[in-house]
Amino acid sequence: MNSVAKKLSVQALLRCPRCKSRIEAVEEGAPGRAFVCKDPNCELSQAGFPALDGVPLLVDFDNSVLSREEVQLTAGSSYKDRSMGFLQKVHGFFWRSDSPTASNADRFIAEVKRLDARPTILIIGGGAIGSDADALYRDPDLTLIGTDVYKSDLTVIIADGHQLPLASGAVHGVWIQAVLEHVLTPEQVVAEIYRVLVPDGVVYAETPFMQQVHEGAYDFTRFTLSGHRWLFRHFEEIDGGITRGPAIVMLWSIRYFVGSLFGSYKIGTMAATGLFWLRYFERLSKRAHAADGASAVYFLGRRSARTLKPKDIIAYYKGAQQ
Ligand SMILES: [Zn+2]
Repeated sequence: MNSVAKKLSVQALLRCPRCKSRIEAVEEGAPGRAFVCKDPNCELSQAGFPALDGVPLLVDFDNSVLSREEVQLTAGSSYKDRSMGFLQKVHGFFWRSDSPTASNADRFIAEVKRLDARPTILIIGGGAIGSDADALYRDPDLTLIGTDVYKSDLTVIIADGHQLPLASGAVHGVWIQAVLEHVLTPEQVVAEIYRVLVPDGVVYAETPFMQQVHEGAYDFTRFTLSGHRWLFRHFEEIDGGITRGPAIVMLWSIRYFVGSLFGSYKIGTMAATGLFWLRYFERLSKRAHAADGASAVYFLGRRSARTLKPKDIIAYYKGAQQ
């Protein structure tokens, strides 16, 4: 499928974030009203939705931390500079660690291709390529719908994960990496993921457990491995585990501790970067103990009609405190 055909096929999946009715493009609409909800009873059929350089901004602003004025004023750009400077690349090299994300991405792709040879994938937080998620972007058989709260070359729709502007059963897979800690109500986002997936649809989520605040005002929640599994209790687990262990947690702690001593995150980062070699000890840590002190956890699962029961989650525990 060429890119125009892909774009048209994605447009057919778009829905009003509030009432989930179809939306339509407005020919010569007033500024800030590029699309409207087709249900005349929906308030958003009057207000409409803006577009920024052709990127639909399908957000129900009354029910989102995003503000219409702010997004339009900044033309949808991220409040944070996400481009990588030289120093950041050096820093990224030292902070890299063995992580199963790349092989998990391959497994995720294999699973969605069992459902459809040319699957459609929703990437929540897809404004930038996630760490080790490159395989998704290299595969020409995948149609990617990148959503984020800011505009980038990869953002297909500006959207809020609490109210996905997509039809039910629209996608074969959902990829959500380092996002659920930044949403106000993770349960609601996961319910939306469940809704937009086809019946056997596949989800991959990576979420921090032992990490300090890292996006200022937009950082709310953490999950243990068991808590993360429970969050996805309406899904059958294909695999679940940790992405980074206690060594990275310790380096982050040094960064924030030294940062707090000097009142400077920069000094904290420098101090921790000097100790980067500690991360090589990660390879020696025992799996179960690492799970109890992990930096982040992952879940690869399949949408299911069966729900995990409370007692199942006790049996699920993968740590070392028996
Ligand atoms: Zn509507």
